[in-house]
Amino acid sequence: MFLDTDIKFLKGVGDARAKVLASELGVATFRDLLYYFPFRHIDRSRFYRIDELTGTDLPALQIKGRFISFNIEGEGARKRLVGVFSDGGRRLLEVVWFSKIQALSTAYKPGVEYVIFGKPNLFRNAYSIVHPEVEVYDPAKPPTGFRGVYSLTETMRKRGYSTRLLQTLVGNIFSNTGFAGIQDTLPREIVSRYSLMPLDEAFRQMHFPDNARSLQKATERFKFEELFYVEMHILRYSMERGSKIPGYLFQKIGEKFNGFYFNVLPFELTGAQKRVLKEIRADMKTGRQMNRLLQGDVGSGKTMVAFMSLLMAVDNGCQGALMAPTEILATQHYETLKSWADPIGVRVELLTGSTRVAARRVIHEGLESGDIDIIVGTHALIEDSVKFHRLGLAVIDEQHRFGVAQRARMWQKNSVAPHVLVMTATPIPRTLAMTVYGDLEVSVIDELPPGRKPVTTLLRYDTSRLEVDRLIFSQLREGRQIYIVYPLIEENEKLDLKSLEEGYRRTCDTFPGYRVCFVHGKMKPAEKDYQMDLFVKGEARIMVATTVIEVGVNVPNASVMVIENAERFGLSQLHQLRGRVGRGADQSYCILMGKAKGSADTKKRLSIMTETTDGFLISEADMKIRGPGDMEGTQQSGLAFNLKVADLARDGQILTRAREAALAVLRGNPSLLAPGCAATPPQKGDMAPVAVLPQSVSVMVEELRLRFARTVDWSRIS
Ligand code: ADP
Ligand code: MG
Repeated sequence: MFLDTDIKFLKGVGDARAKVLASELGVATFRDLLYYFPFRHIDRSRFYRIDELTGTDLPALQIKGRFISFNIEGEGARKRLVGVFSDGGRRLLEVVWFSKIQALSTAYKPGVEYVIFGKPNLFRNAYSIVHPEVEVYDPAKPPTGFRGVYSLTETMRKRGYSTRLLQTLVGNIFSNTGFAGIQDTLPREIVSRYSLMPLDEAFRQMHFPDNARSLQKATERFKFEELFYVEMHILRYSMERGSKIPGYLFQKIGEKFNGFYFNVLPFELTGAQKRVLKEIRADMKTGRQMNRLLQGDVGSGKTMVAFMSLLMAVDNGCQGALMAPTEILATQHYETLKSWADPIGVRVELLTGSTRVAARRVIHEGLESGDIDIIVGTHALIEDSVKFHRLGLAVIDEQHRFGVAQRARMWQKNSVAPHVLVMTATPIPRTLAMTVYGDLEVSVIDELPPGRKPVTTLLRYDTSRLEVDRLIFSQLREGRQIYIVYPLIEENEKLDLKSLEEGYRRTCDTFPGYRVCFVHGKMKPAEKDYQMDLFVKGEARIMVATTVIEVGVNVPNASVMVIENAERFGLSQLHQLRGRVGRGADQSYCILMGKAKGSADTKKRLSIMTETTDGFLISEADMKIRGPGDMEGTQQSGLAFNLKVADLARDGQILTRAREAALAVLRGNPSLLAPGCAATPPQKGDMAPVAVLPQSVSVMVEELRLRFARTVDWSRIS
């Protein structure tokens, strides 16, 4: 096909340049070059009016007008000069500088007509331009057009490559005699239903835009396309699995489950727990493999749901596994589960990295023979030496610490894939849930056990340290326990450890007579367990710790959590930490210690925590501020998408439409997609299909796009 032509045959390329393009930009064919979009666009073709700016993805453009006023705002690193610019229309534009503030504040004269040039950013419904070029309007200066700027490597620059050359080369594709238009890779139906720019036109507009509007439409088209294929891929797998992968059939609710429910269960289940258990039960009696995400805020009682689900497996002649991300958490789960399981004669064991060799051998044997009903553990559970007799259900706690690949390894352990229940307290923003976790069914526990009081969250600065100490004192006197948490970030381990140790000493000095324990991630496991244990048992009243306590530790008597250097944590992480308190019936407090001199933006970010306890709102806000690639969970689990054009934090609407479109295509005629599609149907014993997703999503998407273009006859979709 024309677009697959080797780039060396393009006019102006040849062997030498083809080598450079391939090694520097990964461009090997005509298609690759077309997909090598400019990283930004410059529109000097005309003057824009502020009134006509709409949407995101605007090019750098020029506006003619006058400065009305200048103001210095913010402090510290965020200190900035804000100029208000008017072109005589209804709307005004903010112009922002972060450097040379003093000099610039008097440089521009009111009344003089200027041309400012830069990329307008949309923020809270108003546009602003940061660090624009400003020059006095010169009517004699002609417009210079609208063009893209390509990113080039240093090597290329040295060899004389320029934006202009790339532009010429792209132009040569369009003027090539073999060029007969580019066939769309999206179904015609979808292009028209979602008013997308056709592919051919979109390529031209990306490289040679006519105006800002058509560039936006072209960008939107490529975003849509990218997300469409991601969704297509995910949905297709989940449908296929839904219909094809066999799972154990758990027909009955048996003796163990009922024995526990009627005789041991120490409290009434919440409505949400009951609903979720029903959903899980329904999944596990279809004969197909369950693959479900259980989302519930910290303290919502996920462990109980996990345990009762595991009992369903045991009652149906299977084993169950509960995997946790840390040793401490696994140990705590083990103790909890054991206390519930012992009275009903269900055998629970613990397997972690620090299980002794002899004990480990016994456990391995017990798992293989089927004597062990439920195994709780860490990554140690997915080592090759671990073999199950019949693993029927694998529960994975705190999903964000594990990659999909690990999830898949659990499945590989059997000839029949066990049911999988993934639990997380991190509320997953809709856009992420639709992509990264798009292969999972979702259950939500949206109700906390009764008697919990919402945690009061305060933002305080070093200057009010005494006030904070007084609050701690009063809680200690009432018999409560206190967490004091310090950040520990790898890059600066030494410094962090120092501040942690100082904090520990200060705490001991400030609260004499109360035992203080001390925990951080770099401790030997035995020492860590010992220290944690002091706190869990109530012997230590204060725990000074790093984020090792983040996940899962359950001490209902703890009523205060002080978080030092709160600005160094992500909002979702703060939310998780905060979930450690407020587990008893008493009023609890979370105190975020910020820097008094911190920036206004940081204060605003932290104050979100004081305004809401809604994990969903918090994670949305977190994602907007930090971007999805940075979200805890996506990165650690290796799921960070390498999307080329789309941005999950900003393109939620496009994503929603792309998913809807993908679903419509799949529902309409899924068999259309089977032949020639990049993905082979999952085989028995195969790595679970979705596990291949994270490694190279972009490559995969690219490949899908190509194959789709060739093998699917879209005109057959009515
Ligand atoms: P998470 O969802 O954060 O894992 P846990 O499972 O640790 O929450 O539960 C938090 C606490 O709430 C535990 O002490 C647990 O025993 C208790 N709990 C769970 N469900 C209920 C319920 N229905 N009623 C009262 N307490 C409950
Ligand atoms: Mg938990």
